[in-house]
Amino acid sequence: MQHGDEHYTVRLAHLYPTLMNLYGDRGNIIALRRRCEARGIGLEVTGLGLGEPFDTEAYDLVFIGGGQDREQRRIAEDLLTLKGESLRAASEDGMPMLTVCGGYQLFGRSYQPAAGEQLPGLGIFPMRSIHPGEDASRCIGNVEARWQGGTLVGFENHGGRTYLEDGTTPLARVRAGYGNNGEDGTEGAVIGAVFGTYLHGSLLPKNPAFADHLIRLALRHHYGAEVSLPPLDDALERRAHADAARVARSDAAAARRARPLFARLVRR
Ligand code: GLN
Repeated sequence: MQHGDEHYTVRLAHLYPTLMNLYGDRGNIIALRRRCEARGIGLEVTGLGLGEPFDTEAYDLVFIGGGQDREQRRIAEDLLTLKGESLRAASEDGMPMLTVCGGYQLFGRSYQPAAGEQLPGLGIFPMRSIHPGEDASRCIGNVEARWQGGTLVGFENHGGRTYLEDGTTPLARVRAGYGNNGEDGTEGAVIGAVFGTYLHGSLLPKNPAFADHLIRLALRHHYGAEVSLPPLDDALERRAHADAARVARSDAAAARRARPLFARLVRR
């Protein structure tokens, strides 16, 4: 795990760490740190808040967490005007990025919040997100989604619905839960090495294969070479993953059982 005489290092830009941090999103950074350090890889984390530009040369990996409409409104202009051009350039250059929920929505073309004006997004993902309004039901619960021969698990809580444009690849396919919009079975989006998802929870501690995928992509971006990661003892992570999947499936089964009963009550 050495590169010449140097140890490997991953330089992570954490966008708006205080404003965009819901449902354990920060746990993603902790998981990345643990999985890097266990292999002797350094993880340098730089928080970039309002007023701080994004330097494409300074990072190998980008993370942005979720935030409610209010926070999204606070960061949207800064994201677009101060960081947008360089984030778009970095994404085209293959820099891996993980964007979650409110952050994910703003990496699309636009987000229409529950109230007020539409927010323009970075347009990295060809998709639009629309919140149908405060009275609409939210997409809340545990999710299991098929991803690369395995599954991703997590917790979602969003009012906005995301619609991918034709040809945009979803990150995963929903098995239990809502995902992008509760209608078309898609969850998240992927373009190049940029990933969007509605999964909080935290996502990466329970999905170690996805965490390692990001670390590998970040090292490839930094060093221009494939780095193989020695396996870790993931017994706990696998248990957390299996538990979350079980909860998601039993929630989905309970929702299915409740549906005819609800329909009967409504008809009466
Ligand atoms: N404000 C967005 C929504 O409700 C995002 C919420 C979130 O990041 N959890 O759709």
